[in-house]
Amino acid sequence: MDESFTIHRRGGVAISGDSIVAVGADADAYAAVETIDCQGRVVMPGLVNAHTHVPMTLLRGLADDLRLDVWLMGYMMPVEREFVNPDFVTLGTRLGCAEMIRSGVTCFADMYYFEDAIAQATADAGMRALCAQTVLRFPTPDAHSYEDSLALARAFIERWRGHPLIVPAPAPHAPYTCTPEILRACAELAVEFDVPLHTHLAETTFEVDNSRREHGMPVVPWAKKQGLFDAKVLAAHCVHVDDGEIRALKNFNAGVAHNPTSNLKLGAGIAPVARMLELGVDVGIGTDGPASNNDLDMFEEMRLAALLAKGGSPAGGDPTAVPARAALAMATRLGARAVHLDHLTGSLEPGKRADLIVVDLDRLHNVPSFDRDPNAVYARLVYASKSTDVVDVMCNGRWLMRDRALLTLDERALRDAAREQATRVDRFLTGREVSVLQKLVAVGGAVEQESFEVQVKARLASDAPALAALAGRQVTVVRSSHYHQYDTYWSFEDPDQGWLRFREDEFLDQDGAVTGARSRLTLTGRTREEEFGAVLLFRSRYLAPATQSPRFYREYFRPTAEHVVEKDRRRWLLAYRGVEFYVHLDRLITPSTDGWFIEIKSRTWSRRDAEDKAGVISELIALFGANPDDTISDGYVQLAAGQR
Ligand SMILES: [Zn+2]
Repeated sequence: MDESFTIHRRGGVAISGDSIVAVGADADAYAAVETIDCQGRVVMPGLVNAHTHVPMTLLRGLADDLRLDVWLMGYMMPVEREFVNPDFVTLGTRLGCAEMIRSGVTCFADMYYFEDAIAQATADAGMRALCAQTVLRFPTPDAHSYEDSLALARAFIERWRGHPLIVPAPAPHAPYTCTPEILRACAELAVEFDVPLHTHLAETTFEVDNSRREHGMPVVPWAKKQGLFDAKVLAAHCVHVDDGEIRALKNFNAGVAHNPTSNLKLGAGIAPVARMLELGVDVGIGTDGPASNNDLDMFEEMRLAALLAKGGSPAGGDPTAVPARAALAMATRLGARAVHLDHLTGSLEPGKRADLIVVDLDRLHNVPSFDRDPNAVYARLVYASKSTDVVDVMCNGRWLMRDRALLTLDERALRDAAREQATRVDRFLTGREVSVLQKLVAVGGAVEQESFEVQVKARLASDAPALAALAGRQVTVVRSSHYHQYDTYWSFEDPDQGWLRFREDEFLDQDGAVTGARSRLTLTGRTREEEFGAVLLFRSRYLAPATQSPRFYREYFRPTAEHVVEKDRRRWLLAYRGVEFYVHLDRLITPSTDGWFIEIKSRTWSRRDAEDKAGVISELIALFGANPDDTISDGYVQLAAGQR
């Protein structure tokens, strides 16, 4: 797999220490301590898995067939927050290394948390890796803030630089999960230590559309503007890049990791790999994390990369695109270039490290063979070989597998430990599934508990008496505001779970123009603590910032019913007899309802206080023109649900 794709039909590979000293007939000149007969087999460079999150072996099969955001924010990140620690990543890395060695991988590019433990487990397993410490703009399992993760990345790079197997790097996760400041700091860090930089770029159309809307340009130029390409970049995915961006990636000498299975499984799309290769970009192949694949089989990825490039569009395409030889190059030499480790690995050439595998081509699914075209061997390897045909694996001059027996890892112990770990994760998720609140806490981060609340609601034929009362002397208006509120309510099979409300507030100015917006999630119980006549005392509510779309929460919480309430709300904070009350004057748009509703409410801290305030509210409701007999006990969602 050298630049000219030399095939040595006979001869050998001579290895001394950690390096290759001769290849082909030249190797005959060497007398060896140990000689391996590889008749009927192919000796080739070890495969390079150009992008993965290796400890996620422990999360494979945890949640599948979901949209990227629900999968990531709803399952992966909550479980990672709960479980990921140095022990977890060590076990996950060992499991991943065992799997990769078995399938002929000698080098991989990783990105995860606690990368120090990953590097250690990888080095112990004898594999080569670009290990990249993740930096995000929000808290991670190993850092409270991005300043912490940057400090962690720096310390990690300082500790591992110069290691024979491990090349450390910073990994700003992606432009949309980082700030410009983080991207710049990571690029500077990589330049300072002359190490690569590992990131995700342009994975989904959603990401690209957001970038265009927020920054006025697609992802690659925006990353360039933040100085990202000052570093030696390894960019995973690049599914949605245009010709200009591909040329830019080439000019910046950035490597691309193509992850065909992950992109298909998460519905991201198909990267324009043939075009990238045509324009000279170094494109490697990666499995991505085993939670989105769900394995680390590079033979499968290599074949899929070749097939997708040919027929991966509804109209079909070009069967000559990405031929087997190019696919194998992507999985070896080009992949090594993409991860910026081609001075060490990716081809069998004197001077490079001895990273090689022996593949048995004499299996049933791979016979017979034809000698007429020497290039046929590439097709045999890419289209017919399986990862289980790999017999021997050597990395850095050390055997990691002989005759399909792992030499540096205990397979049975790893399987047992992984099973135990899965039981703990299962228990955690099962416990969470029983309540909407638990799921809200898991996905929403901080959820605060509010105090008790007394409230009353009544219909008004006209808003005039209420407005007159507000202008009168008996009440003092502290402040007022005007909203357009769009509420989506979800209910669940078990009514005790209450209602989950997704509220989008638009703030309106005096002329009714929108001046701002916010979204919140509120979980309200349906049970009332107590009733003081028409005034109801409500239990606490749970609030969470709504950082995702309603579609996300719908798919994540899987409610059994959905109701929409849309209204125009005028809101006053007023003081009456020394106590503060909120007054809402609402006009319902959906469900379309005549007249007005008035709602008066106040926070309370004790039952005694609630009783006092209930008395005052009864006076207020009359003052605002409502007949106390017209009060209603249901909320708008019950109106919308037709439950009255
Ligand atoms: Zn990834």
